[in-house]
Amino acid sequence: MGMNLQAICDALDRVGIRPTQQRIEIMKYLVKHRVHPTAEMIYAELKQTIPTFSKTTVYNTLKLLAEKGVVLALATDEDQVRYEANLTPHGHFKCVRCDDLFDLTIADMASPGDEIEGNLVLEYQVLVKGVCRRCRTAENPVLD
Ligand SMILES: [Zn+2]
Ligand SMILES: [Zn+2]
Repeated sequence: MGMNLQAICDALDRVGIRPTQQRIEIMKYLVKHRVHPTAEMIYAELKQTIPTFSKTTVYNTLKLLAEKGVVLALATDEDQVRYEANLTPHGHFKCVRCDDLFDLTIADMASPGDEIEGNLVLEYQVLVKGVCRRCRTAENPVLD
């Protein structure tokens, strides 16, 4: 997903979000870092280059962006929300060992607006949990 500054501003404009510098920085970060970061991770990273960033701003901005559908909020655990700017339908794999969360290609994913057995889809999330290939190899080198 090649999303430049103009595309980010357009995406925000389209849903009526004023493209402030902090909102743009958060979007840029999500577009560039496709590791599905938490708000905490984004805050820790952005604060290094922009010391005026506040934690509240990051949390509120992510909440707003998710509400407006500009980013996806993935609830992977009871107390953890991860964010991403890739809106193309795809599933996720979460490693219970290293906590990595990465994209999975899932065939025939429904999109918002589709119907499943008469039910209207607003959001479709596939989350697979397990032990990732890297951790399996580390634990049992024979698998490599
Ligand atoms: Zn792992
Ligand atoms: Zn993803």
